[in-house]
Amino acid sequence: MSHIAFIGLGHMGAPMALNLLKAGHTLSVFDLVPSAVKTLTDAGASAAESAQAAVKGVDAVVTMLPASKHVEGLYLGETGLLQHIAAGTLVMECSTIAAVSARKVAEAAAAKGVRMIDAPVSGGTGGAVAGTLTFIVGGTEADLEAAMPYLEKMGKNIFHAGAAGAGQVAKICNNMLLGILMAGTSEALALGVANGLDPKVLSDIIAKSSGRNWATELYNPWPGVMENAPASKSYSGGFGVDLMLKDLGLAAESALNTRSATPLGELARNLYSIHSSQGNGGLDFSSILNLYKK
Ligand code: NAD
Repeated sequence: MSHIAFIGLGHMGAPMALNLLKAGHTLSVFDLVPSAVKTLTDAGASAAESAQAAVKGVDAVVTMLPASKHVEGLYLGETGLLQHIAAGTLVMECSTIAAVSARKVAEAAAAKGVRMIDAPVSGGTGGAVAGTLTFIVGGTEADLEAAMPYLEKMGKNIFHAGAAGAGQVAKICNNMLLGILMAGTSEALALGVANGLDPKVLSDIIAKSSGRNWATELYNPWPGVMENAPASKSYSGGFGVDLMLKDLGLAAESALNTRSATPLGELARNLYSIHSSQGNGGLDFSSILNLYKK
């Protein structure tokens, strides 16, 4: 069993870290928020005083932070974590960030002899708790192979997207599509209900017809249609509007960098932006339905 540093114990990081603990690894954990750390220490992890202290003497490091600026801020610079991680240590950076940031940090890691993969995840908080996340990995084949025993304890499907940064590119393409599909599903349900249909009946029909998608199968945005979906829990938990907005922004940046056209992604980004600016940034992203609902 290995000794692992786990940094960033939020909605996703905490359950992922718990699954590594359950698998028998020992964990040194750190988060800026003390209550997040307590969840892990209650389960047997040891709390480190700082991120720098957490990585001392470990076999592997996992980070799960909000965005690019947090990841660059943590790893890079004179006091950055890369100055404290021993050469040869394996780092799994699981946050969803810009591919350019992931490449920048991976290059700095390589210069220090630190083995790093970008391994953003899909599957939400439910997948993090159940240990069924999808990992979308960028990095070398050898580093992915070294990461497998850890990733397999937190996830079910593990894909190698390509070289450093490729995991982030694939993740952003997926999430741009998800943002579009959730807005489209909301639009269709609101249209049906405005024209007299029962949202559950319409959802059942779409789920078995050509318009079916992940939202109609597992994550219906209409309250009460699916008991366990965030929509039925006042849009709490799940994947926040502001995190979706961040991912659509990353998609827009990637499109700009490569002169790609993403008109539907941009439209979705604007819809989530309006929704967030109306005070809904902390709700689950399926609450985009409220933009359409009468
Ligand atoms: P979160 O905000 O709940 O957790 C992030 C944690 O990082 C917080 O506890 C915060 O205190 C901590 N943190 C920030 N800077 C830190 C630092 N310098 N040192 C130590 N801790 C620090 O976010 P989340 O929902 O857990 O998401 C994490 C990442 O996973 C994001 O990049 C997100 O886009 C991605 N993601 C989230 C979901 C989801 O459903 N929530 C799904 C897939 C991917």
